[in-house]
Amino acid sequence: MPIKILKSEVASQIAAGEVIERPASVVKELIENAIDAGSSRIVIHCLNAGQGLIEVRDNGRGIPIDQLELAVTRHATSKLETAEELFQIRTLGFRGEALASIASVSRLTIVSKEDAAEIGGKLQVEGGLSGSAEPSGAPTGTLVRVEDLFFNVPARRKFLKTDLTERRHIDETVTNYALAFPEIQFNLSQEHKQALQTSGSGDRREITAAIFGTEIARQMLELLAQEEDIGINGLISPVSLTRSNRRAIQFFVNGRPVQDYTLTTALLQGYHTLLMAGRFPIAQIFLTLPAEQVDVNVHPTKAEVRFRQPDEVFAAVQRATRRALLAYTPVPELRTQYRWHYDGLDRQTPSWGSWDQLSSTQGKTDSEQPDIGEEEVLPSGSTEQERGEFPGTRSPLLRLVGQVAAAYLIAEGPDGLYLIDQHAAHERVLFERFMSQKQDKIPSQRLLEPETVAFSPASSRLLEAQLQDINRLGFEVENFGRHTFIVRAIPVLLAGMEPAGALRVLVEDFEEDESPLQNEIEAKIIARVCKRAAVKAGQVLSAEEQQALLYDLEKTTSPRTCPHGRPTMIHLSVNMLERQFGRSGPR
Ligand code: ADP
Ligand code: MG
Repeated sequence: MPIKILKSEVASQIAAGEVIERPASVVKELIENAIDAGSSRIVIHCLNAGQGLIEVRDNGRGIPIDQLELAVTRHATSKLETAEELFQIRTLGFRGEALASIASVSRLTIVSKEDAAEIGGKLQVEGGLSGSAEPSGAPTGTLVRVEDLFFNVPARRKFLKTDLTERRHIDETVTNYALAFPEIQFNLSQEHKQALQTSGSGDRREITAAIFGTEIARQMLELLAQEEDIGINGLISPVSLTRSNRRAIQFFVNGRPVQDYTLTTALLQGYHTLLMAGRFPIAQIFLTLPAEQVDVNVHPTKAEVRFRQPDEVFAAVQRATRRALLAYTPVPELRTQYRWHYDGLDRQTPSWGSWDQLSSTQGKTDSEQPDIGEEEVLPSGSTEQERGEFPGTRSPLLRLVGQVAAAYLIAEGPDGLYLIDQHAAHERVLFERFMSQKQDKIPSQRLLEPETVAFSPASSRLLEAQLQDINRLGFEVENFGRHTFIVRAIPVLLAGMEPAGALRVLVEDFEEDESPLQNEIEAKIIARVCKRAAVKAGQVLSAEEQQALLYDLEKTTSPRTCPHGRPTMIHLSVNMLERQFGRSGPR
């Protein structure tokens, strides 16, 4: 094929693909325009998870009627003139691409009026083909209506996730800008239901409360620091308040929500040794730097930035985090000794591999207990699969020796020493009990007083979607509207546990699973609940409790792993001990 210049429709669809990936990208761009226009109130309305309709209305400065057609033209912007200005950007937009991109993949209508103008204007564009601007009555400000997104790019539609997920992305997008601009009033509704409303009072904690609930907002710690020309402020969670993933960590640079791996690392290093493995804080951190210190033009969606002095920014974030944590929460000295350890970014089970190797030459069985011949407690392989459960393998009969570090049980078995993680073991025990009860009906216990729990819009959407499953598992939870749920009963197995906490676990650990199988969902929910209900590391157990746990573990069908696949026990075989002490082996 000879080389040809692409037709302009093709070129603009290619370009649009970079900027508009999903409905939430449209929401993001339109909100940015509204903010750049100096609006104090922004109302967003979506239907069909944004694929039917996205409407953003603002009360900003508006667009003159004779510039409407320019506004939807590619590389047309009022925010930038010279290349030098690229390093002085103070607006959220500057590429002059968003409206043109959106217009090329949807049916777009803009209605806008400047304050001083007598009458407003209206322009319609369909799949990039622009009509001409006509006079139209309108209040001051701009209304952008985007209908049938991707109607002319069906392939793109196929890449969208479930409506639930797309709605959550929209929730999260609006939430981010609401946090970044607390003095602007935001109102988001999806499918005619209000999802987020902020007052525009300028109080960030109030917005945090709207997102995470008042209880969490109250606990968040203030971050405030100024180092040279790097300003840092925001809210971070105390070490007692964590999540199982990084999704609640959000950075903003000069008001722009950004994704930045190194900033997250800096934050986590600030928490160094204070967080349990696999737990992450909630954080909203706002950095202010002189515009020339930040390159915002590195990514078509402007979701990434580059710092001129990244090391200084990194250090400042880390120090500010550390200082805030130390100021508000004394380091739990006692516990530091055992369980609190820093979660490196790629968590692996340290030294597991070496245990593996050492014990791979599994020894003979103890002659005193000949009936449990083919015991092999430590899986000898090193791949994830091999390390997992061995169907049918039972736990060896174990003799309790004691507890160490309030986290592990020591036991003697047929072939050496067994170290048992009490939390993982208890998780396994609870999990199997739950699963066996599931055959009939999981008994539930009514609360003396029903408890209401408030959630963020995004979490409540998740919970709503899971409600049926949850209620089948011994919970009795009801949607109370406005992101609030009433807990009336919890499974008997969890009796004594705080119901709000139990419910929260159900959503906060929910990853972006698209459509797992029904029984997978149930198993997942149960595993999550068990994790929460199991005894923790750091909890001292009486001799009877230790014995009972060991006994219960022996009875499970898969005693060697917790429901999440981590090992419950480590085996130090007699053979290995002998080699380690130089009593046998090659040396
Ligand atoms: P950019 O924001 O990068 O300049 P856009 O394609 O998003 O590019 O918008 C093009 C231009 O249209 C903007 O520069 C601005 O002048 C005008 N505009 C877009 N949306 C609005 C709005 N909500 N209020 C006022 N002006 C707007
Ligand atoms: Mg823009």
